[in-house]
Amino acid sequence: MKTIGLLGGMSWESTQGYYRSINEGIKSRLGGLHSAQISMYSVDFDPIEKLQHQGDWAGTAAILSQAAKNIQAAGADFLLICTNTMHKVAPQIEAAIDIPLLHIADATAKELIKQNIKKVGLLGTAFTMEQGFYKDRLTDKFGLSVVVPNEADRAVVHEVIYQELCLGKINPNSKSEYLRIIRTLADQGAKAVILGCTEIGMLVKQSDTDVLLIDTTEIHAQAAVDFALTL
Ligand code: GLU
Repeated sequence: MKTIGLLGGMSWESTQGYYRSINEGIKSRLGGLHSAQISMYSVDFDPIEKLQHQGDWAGTAAILSQAAKNIQAAGADFLLICTNTMHKVAPQIEAAIDIPLLHIADATAKELIKQNIKKVGLLGTAFTMEQGFYKDRLTDKFGLSVVVPNEADRAVVHEVIYQELCLGKINPNSKSEYLRIIRTLADQGAKAVILGCTEIGMLVKQSDTDVLLIDTTEIHAQAAVDFALTL
């Protein structure tokens, strides 16, 4: 079994989900007392979030590249960045290490293709919904068509992530808003909606809606299990 490198803490609320899902995945595949070999570095999210909102992505890349080097030095065979948003600086992080990066958008796109979905809605931070680093990868590399909420709804989705979910707060009104926005994306032709922020699965579950939800935390964790068990 390969050792999985986790760059976590963004937020730690969602990193818990990775830790649980990866261990459950290894246990269900190998049985008995098997659990995942993990090397994790969990950052302090506060300075990262400040740099994001100041637009200082080079500053975030410097912190995360050093963390990735630490994960590699601790014996990881490959790396997961446990947040969609920080894949904005995935190229810089990848350049700082010798081990492969399992990109969250690639794992997500492969799942969509497996399910024969071509048009998909995307929820995430404003950075993920509005900038090219994520959406363009889905369209250019995998030929998917991506729809995002309108400006007012993007603001709602973004605020709930930083003001509630990353602080572990689950608010029923926010859940209703998210479900309304998911329905709107489906009405616009999306055959599924990507929960493209690793905390959203804490708020909305598949049982809350008949729109197919693609939870990036679960997909990414499952891809890590598969890769860890590949010879
Ligand atoms: N975990 C979130 C994501 O998947 C947002 C936190 C962050 O800005 O990294 O995008």
